Amino acid sequence: MIGTNATFSRRLLRWYDAHRRDLPWRLKSGSGETLDPYLVLVSEAMLQQTQVATVIPYFQRFIGRFPTIQSLAEADEQDVLRMWQGLGYYSRARNLHAAARRIVIEHRGVLPRTADELRALPGVGRYTAGAVASIAFDCRAPIVDGNVARVICRLDRIARDPREREVLELLWRRAEQILPNVRCGDFNSALMELGATVCTPRSPKCLICPVREHCEAQAAGLQEQIPPPRKSKPTPLLRRDVFCIRDGEKWLIEQRPAKGRWAGMWQFVTVPSAKASRANGHKQIAVVTHGLTHRRYRFRVFAASHLPPEHASAEAARGRAWVTLQELDQYPLPRPHVKIAQLLRANSMKTR
Ligand code: SF4
Repeated sequence: MIGTNATFSRRLLRWYDAHRRDLPWRLKSGSGETLDPYLVLVSEAMLQQTQVATVIPYFQRFIGRFPTIQSLAEADEQDVLRMWQGLGYYSRARNLHAAARRIVIEHRGVLPRTADELRALPGVGRYTAGAVASIAFDCRAPIVDGNVARVICRLDRIARDPREREVLELLWRRAEQILPNVRCGDFNSALMELGATVCTPRSPKCLICPVREHCEAQAAGLQEQIPPPRKSKPTPLLRRDVFCIRDGEKWLIEQRPAKGRWAGMWQFVTVPSAKASRANGHKQIAVVTHGLTHRRYRFRVFAASHLPPEHASAEAARGRAWVTLQELDQYPLPRPHVKIAQLLRANSMKTR
């Protein structure tokens, strides 16, 4: 049992000091520098649903373009989306942008310090508020993400699905109880780091775990069974037809609606496949698939000379532009359309 044992936090923190990963949003050990809370906010927004290794290059690019909260607040949303392009879950980018604007207007450009104040910002939920408050300001705020949930479930031998509301509430209470009064940010980071590198979903490395003496699952030999595997649900497949319409060197693109998936981003002309039976007559040049957590997409890609008839409707009349493949770089595109653009570039190189 972890209890509120000071030995537990001492062991965990000692391990963290020796093994923490060198990440661009963290201070180097002993550097003597001060952590920039803005970097913590950006990293936490990017890390939601996304692994550290994926986030690093996006974080560096984003911070290179928007080095301060002021610069992000002043940015055009299309520019923000372009810098986020490829990272997915674009509402995070829009919320981060809105939060930066709110911080500049309502907090004179200074990030609020407490979890409660942070939660009032767009897109900042319980986890992000706790992470920023503890990591950036060392406030005593707990966090529970997937890694922390798994670690606490194993330490306390909680053999239930941590996504159940009741279990999740228990985990938040436990995360609060085990939090020490000092080095709260490091403690939270250490728990997450332990989950990411040692107490992994499969084959946890109990032999090298710094807190194995506190772990009930390990003592009972149940570490592989806790938490129980998620019941997989079939993910729906959505079919789309994409029309790559060309006029000389220019291609027709359209802006997606302001709400919903990939909101406000740009794409080659796209319609649901069911409505596009008249795709016949256009040459199919590729099939692009794209998987998200809750759904999958299959895009049939056609070379076309004109808009499909149903797309001339008022419903479809949103922003459109004719651009060269080079100019396309200035527009935020969903990942499947980045793949399609790459395909068109490769084809145009071949035909030169
Ligand atoms: Fe996880 Fe094993 Fe450490 Fe327990 S002993 S916390 S199961 S790595």
